[in-house]
Amino acid sequence: MTISSTNKGDSLKDARSSYFNLPPLDISEAFPQAKPASIFPPCASDYYQFDDLLNDEERAIRAKVRECMEKEVAPIMAEYWERAEFPFQIIPKLGALHIAGGSIKGYGCPGLSITGNAIATAEVARVDASCSTFILVHSSLAMLTIALCGSEDQKKNYLPSLAQLKTIACWALTEPDNGSDASGLQTTATKVAGGWILEGQKRWIGNSTFADLLIIFARNTATNQINGYIVKKDSPGLTATKIENKIGLRIVQNGDIVLKKVFVPDEDRLPGVNSFQDTNKVLAVSRVMVAWQPIGISMGVYDMCLRYLKERKQFGAPLAAFQINQQKLVQMLGNVQAMFLVGWRLCKLYESGKMTPGHASLGKSWISVKARETVALGRELLGGNGILADFLVAKAFCDLEPIYTYEGTYDINSLVTAREVTGIPSFKPAARSRL
Ligand SMILES: Cc1cc2nc3c(=O)[nH]c(=O)nc-3n(C[C@H](O)[C@H](O)[C@H](O)COP(=O)(O)OP(=O)(O)OC[C@H]3O[C@@H](n4cnc5c(N)ncnc54)[C@H](O)[C@@H]3O)c2cc1C
Repeated sequence: MTISSTNKGDSLKDARSSYFNLPPLDISEAFPQAKPASIFPPCASDYYQFDDLLNDEERAIRAKVRECMEKEVAPIMAEYWERAEFPFQIIPKLGALHIAGGSIKGYGCPGLSITGNAIATAEVARVDASCSTFILVHSSLAMLTIALCGSEDQKKNYLPSLAQLKTIACWALTEPDNGSDASGLQTTATKVAGGWILEGQKRWIGNSTFADLLIIFARNTATNQINGYIVKKDSPGLTATKIENKIGLRIVQNGDIVLKKVFVPDEDRLPGVNSFQDTNKVLAVSRVMVAWQPIGISMGVYDMCLRYLKERKQFGAPLAAFQINQQKLVQMLGNVQAMFLVGWRLCKLYESGKMTPGHASLGKSWISVKARETVALGRELLGGNGILADFLVAKAFCDLEPIYTYEGTYDINSLVTAREVTGIPSFKPAARSRL
């Protein structure tokens, strides 16, 4: 292509080929040898037959969620991920699964066991991690906060429609200046006649751009303690704008929330949130669920890789015939088995009332590290297609990064467990005053 220095724009246009602006080939035409993830691979990652560890109800949830995700969600997710848009048409389908509200009993919620809730989370994440984050934020953070810290009226008013996904919620703790150090949050709540005035800013809040209800944590200016509030969509002074350019969980609409003198009536203050410690009741459960996202992601990646390696041929043989590829595949499979067992044990510890914050944090941090290793191996196995969202693995690889970071980074969760086993907290620098 030659371009003259004069009238560069016109010359460029003239120099373009006749096929310059054609749409891309459909992936099945561009790469006929292996099926993309829109036709989701069968589950092959349950090698140690973990179904045996589940009860009938949990197995039924697993089958129901898997069928819906593979049939209804898998065909469209790469496209929405690429566009970083939320596919609102899937909300009624996810609502019909009756998994929102997870382990909450009553108020139209499913009342699943923790294990059942975890299995559902993994099955959603196996096909699409963004979808599982959407449900997790709504269900295991926002709904659970209302269930554990709300008044009877709040539970009756809000939980039934949230359980059906007729209304959507988000959960806003993180702020621009307070991420890992969330207990130092600076959004304020000031008591006025009949309610409260909220003032401040939140960042990274999943679902916030379209949520009907926003659970907002703020510092009570009279007590200096953290309180929780249910803020309604379109409240005067409230805005939530999308954070652009994410490399992972692109379907999730994470927002910057700005609260400028937002009035919240007394009846929408959560009576059970009176200090930062009260958020831990919720985080204990949600951290278990977050630990199951990387399990599901790794299952999907393994399933995809196994099928791909059998379909794709090089040097006259399927990729699955090469020893190095087989070793990587088995390393991934071993990781999935170990991750599942740790996640399952975490659920059992919770169900028997024996789970500590350290247990949950170790589960979340260790599982996400193993998942990182697993998806990186998967990404290698798919060669060039390992960087394409169409074959799942690249999307999963990117989606795991924010999961490694949210609900406590790997480091912070390690420090929570370390504090428990050593008795020595090390979150704050020892010589803070000298910095
Ligand atoms: C996609 C996405 C979705 C999210 N969704 C939500 C949501 O719905 N609601 C919500 O409230 N929040 C949400 N978050 C926020 C998330 O919980 C925070 O990003 C997370 O807690 C880390 O905070 P930070 O990003 O400010 O990192 P920082 O706190 O700035 O940490 C940066 C690095 O420093 C390390 N570090 C920090 N402190 C220490 C320490 N004491 N010792 C050792 N290392 C340390 C961290 O481990 C990390 O590696 C989301 C984040 C992402 C990326």
